[in-house]
Amino acid sequence: MVRTLIAAGNWKMYKTVQEASAYAEAFLSRVGNFQEVEMIICPPFTALPALSQSLSHSPVKLGAQNMHWEVKGAFTGEIAPSMLKELRCQYVILGHSERRHIFRETSEEVGKKVQSAFAWDLCPILCVGETLEERENGATNQIVEEQLLKGIESLPPEKAHTLVIAYEPVWAIGTGKAATPHDAEEVIAFIRQKLGEKLGQEMVEKIRILYGGSVTPENVFDFVVRPSIDGTLVGGASLDPEKFWKIVQETYRALQVK
Ligand code: PEP
Repeated sequence: MVRTLIAAGNWKMYKTVQEASAYAEAFLSRVGNFQEVEMIICPPFTALPALSQSLSHSPVKLGAQNMHWEVKGAFTGEIAPSMLKELRCQYVILGHSERRHIFRETSEEVGKKVQSAFAWDLCPILCVGETLEERENGATNQIVEEQLLKGIESLPPEKAHTLVIAYEPVWAIGTGKAATPHDAEEVIAFIRQKLGEKLGQEMVEKIRILYGGSVTPENVFDFVVRPSIDGTLVGGASLDPEKFWKIVQETYRALQVK
């Protein structure tokens, strides 16, 4: 089954509002009405209002990089799902490795966020992945399984098909050392097997699983042409509109031969 492929850009803590607006102009001039690949941009919170406006009549979707699970309250520095909905976000990245490792987010917390995102009709992009040490110790599957199953513990079955998983080996993020497509496929097959055990085979066929970690215009084709890889989550290379557009085009080229 060929699912709609995704090219999602995670800008992390890059770009002011002004820079984000200039990017949108440059990127949209390339995109035009192109809709064959699902394009998602996840800027910092501060740039969401400007991008919400500039992307509103385009096929490019808007996502956030994180959120709290509560709707409101005394949570200084946090952003609620209702606030993202108000800005017409459709996606939210949850459990990114930088959140897990730098900010010590636990899989239980990520699970609460996933549940809350679904309650607000936001599609979670749930990130899972092992560190280099965990891979070298042969613990990849164990780590990925823990992050995955706790992440989707309270998944409402009727919305499960909108879930997006991103397999992002931590050692490949921002290092210029991507996993091999073969290694990525091996872990993605394991993720699909675990999802199947929980949600059933029919459902799992609908869920998109992305690869992330040093994706570039040069290597993206070899990932997304693989039957089990439904797109990419891109950090560094998504910061340049020309490079991100090339990634979208390469994704489309792969789709045509899949
Ligand atoms: C990411 O931020 O999720 C990521 C994969 O970053 P990069 O593409 O820069 O490795």
